[in-house]
Order: sequence, then structure tokens, then C-alpha cells
Amino acid sequence: MAETPEADAPLARLILALRAQGVTDARVLKAIETTPRELFTPDLFKERAFEDSALPIACGQTISQPFIVGLMTQALKVDRRDRVLEIGTGSGYQTTVLSKVSRLVYTVERYRTLLRDAEARFNALGLTNVITKFGDGGKGWPEQAPFDRIMVTAAAPSEPKALLSQLKPNGILVAPIGKGPVQSLRRYTGDGHGGFEVEALTDVRFVPLLDGVAKEL
Ligand code: SAH
Repeated sequence: MAETPEADAPLARLILALRAQGVTDARVLKAIETTPRELFTPDLFKERAFEDSALPIACGQTISQPFIVGLMTQALKVDRRDRVLEIGTGSGYQTTVLSKVSRLVYTVERYRTLLRDAEARFNALGLTNVITKFGDGGKGWPEQAPFDRIMVTAAAPSEPKALLSQLKPNGILVAPIGKGPVQSLRRYTGDGHGGFEVEALTDVRFVPLLDGVAKEL
């Protein structure tokens, strides 16, 4: 049976919208295009999987808005040889996009349920370059440091010093920084001598980076 062109229309529209908003990196767009967002979206919201909006997932958390996923992935300037640390696995959507543009993704989540569901999705997609950990991502992953790139997908209240210390000298970290409902998306670029250039990219709304692991499942 011939494929109906309509089937891919929402995805094609989403990609065009991201492009129009400045996500122009071909590798990033391709990674988003080949990541089935409906797989990461709860049943209740599957019809909205290709809308450019954040959606609720379990444990009171959210799957990020595709535009923000594109923007953050592009801002991270990931090379295909890079080892990337991601804090806040959530649904695993951003993790999957990162896995398609890098060599290895290390991802940390503080809710066991979210991590288990995300792991099932990585398996279903046959991803072989994602390594997961249940823990407090604010502390990073010292045993695997240093990383070429670090992405934080929950809002850090202030400069994430522990994570910056796990970055290679010329590495890049992208994170929402701020205590309120609206935070500043910042990019820290290592200067090779232990210092960083800091850029404020745009305003974003993320759930907070919390201390410790979740007691509930
Ligand atoms: N990138 C995700 C969005 C995640 S929302 C996606 O694409 O679906 C932010 C996630 O960060 C939540 O799952 C939350 O539980 C997690 N989080 C918050 N604080 C954390 C911490 N200290 N360590 C690890 N994960 C944390």
C-alpha cells in the first residue's frame, strides 16, 4: 500500500517550524526528525506529540518542547565523537536526540519510574550508546568525567559548579539557570584554562533541578 503523505505532515510541519525559529543545524534537525516523539508522550497526549509544546509526563515532570530540544542541542555544538552528560532523563526524548549526534550519552534521573520507562524506550529504539544512572544529577557523574559536553534539562538555582568541574577544558555546558518560573538558558564555554565564557541564550521554563533522589517511585 502506498504511504499516505498526510501521515508525516505533522512532523514535517514541526521541522519547518523549528527551522523558522532558528534551529538550522542539519544534524540536529535530522535527529529530531528521526525521533518518534509519540513514543515518549503519555497516551493521553499522543495526538499532540508533534505539537511544538512541552507536555506532562509521570511524576509531575514534563517532556521538553521540541523547539527547546532543538535549540539546546544546537547550542551544545556536539561533535559525533563527543561523550555527553545529560542531567534529567525525564521521558528520554532529549537523550535520544543527543544519542543521534554524539558518540555516547550518560544520563542521570532522580525518579526510578521515569528512568525505567526511558530505558525501555531506548531498548525499543535499539539505542546502544546511552548509559543511564539513577541518582542526583546535580552531583554529575564523577567516575565518568571529564565530559566533552554537558546538558542540564532541569533549572539549576545558580551556576552548576560541580557539573562545570566535570567538563573538559574546552567543553561546553548548556543549562537553564534561575530559581523562578522563568529561567535564563546559559551556555558555558571552557576557555582551556579553567575559566568560562558565559552567554545568555534565551528565557526558558523548566522544572527545577532538585537535591537528592526522589523518595517516591
Ligand atoms: N529532557 C527531558 C525533560 C526532563 S524534565 C525530556 O526530554 O523528557 C526534567 C527532569 O529532570 C525530570 O525528569 C526531573 O525528575 C529531573 N531532575 C530534576 N532534578 C534532578 C536531579 N537532581 N538529578 C537528576 N534528575 C533530576
